[in-house]
Amino acid sequence: MAQPKERVAFIGLGVMGAGMAANLARKGFDTTVFNRSAAKAEPVVAAGARLAPSARDAVEGAGVVFLCLPATADVEAVLFGPAGIAARLAAGTVVVDTSTIDPVATRGFAQRLAAHGVMMLDAPVSGGQKGAVDGTLTCMVGGPDEALALARPFLAAMATTIVHIGGSGAGQVAKACNQICVSANLVGASEAMALAMKMGVDPARVREALLGGAARSVVLERHVQKLLDRDFRPGFRTALIAKDLAIAAKALDDARVFAPVSAVVLQVIKGLAASGRQDDDWCSVGDLVQQLSAIPQAGGPAQER
Ligand code: NAD
Repeated sequence: MAQPKERVAFIGLGVMGAGMAANLARKGFDTTVFNRSAAKAEPVVAAGARLAPSARDAVEGAGVVFLCLPATADVEAVLFGPAGIAARLAAGTVVVDTSTIDPVATRGFAQRLAAHGVMMLDAPVSGGQKGAVDGTLTCMVGGPDEALALARPFLAAMATTIVHIGGSGAGQVAKACNQICVSANLVGASEAMALAMKMGVDPARVREALLGGAARSVVLERHVQKLLDRDFRPGFRTALIAKDLAIAAKALDDARVFAPVSAVVLQVIKGLAASGRQDDDWCSVGDLVQQLSAIPQAGGPAQER
C-alpha cells in the first residue's frame, strides 16, 4: 500500500477512537495520538502510533486531525478550551470530528476554525466498536468538498461507506436520523423479547425466526444477541445514546417534526440512565423492560455489568 507522507493526529481513544486510530497506524499512516487517560492509548501504540503528551503536541505538524470525543462540550474544549488545539493548527489543516454532537454547534465550530483558515468536517460514524476495529464503519460527512478530498484517504482506512451528505452540520443531521431509527428499533425489539419470555416462548428462537424476515436488522443481530447473553459491557454506553437522543429531540423540535415515537424512546432511555445503567451497554434497556414486566432474573446482577 502507498504510504501517505502527511502526518495525522487522533484525539480521543475510547471504545470507538482506539479502533479507528489503530487502523490508521496499521495501514501505514504516520499517526500521533492523545487521550485524556493515557492507558487507553496502549493498544493504539502497539499498532504503531506515537503517543503525545498533550492534544497540542499531538496536532503539531499534522495535516489532518481526527477527534472522537463523547459530547459537544468535549469537542469545544479540545478545540477552543484553555489548552485547545485551534491555536496550534496551521492554515489548510482539516479537522475531522467523528464524535456525535449537536449539528448547530458543529456549524459554529466550523465557522470559528475557518477564521484561522482551518477546514472542518463533521463525520460521525455508525457501526459500533466492531466496525471501528474492523475498519468497516459508515461515515456521514458534512463540510466542504475540498476538505473531504484531503481527508478521504484517511477515512477510507476506517470506513467502507463514506457518504458526503452536504454542507457543515449535515453529517450530524444524518447521524441524528440514524439514532432515531436504531433506538426505536431496540426499544421495540426489547418489548418483543419480553413478550416471548412472558408467554413461555424461547426468545432466542424468536430472534432467529425474525432475522429471516422483514424484522431483520443490525439491532436484532447484534444488540438483541448481547441482551439475550446478558452481556451489558459497553459497547455503546447508555449515557451516549441518552446524549444522542437529546440532540435528536432538540433537532426534531426545532424543525417542528411530528415525532411521538422519538419522544417516548427518549423517556425510556432517560429512565434507563436513571436506573443506574449509565455506563452499561444500552442493550440493557431490554433488561429494564423485563424488570418492569416482572420477568424473573431481570434487573438482577448480570455477571458482566
Ligand atoms: P468513550 O467514552 O469510550 O471514549 C471517549 C474518549 O475520549 C475517552 O477515552 C476519553 O478519555 C476521551 N476524552 C474525553 N475528553 C477528552 C479530552 N478533553 N482530551 C482527550 N481525550 C478526551 O466513547 P466512544 O464510545 O468511543 O464514543 C465516542 C463518540 O463516538 C461519541 O460521540 C459517541 O456518541 C460516538 N459513537 C459511539 C459508538 C459506540 O458504539 N460506542 C458508535 C458510533 C458513534
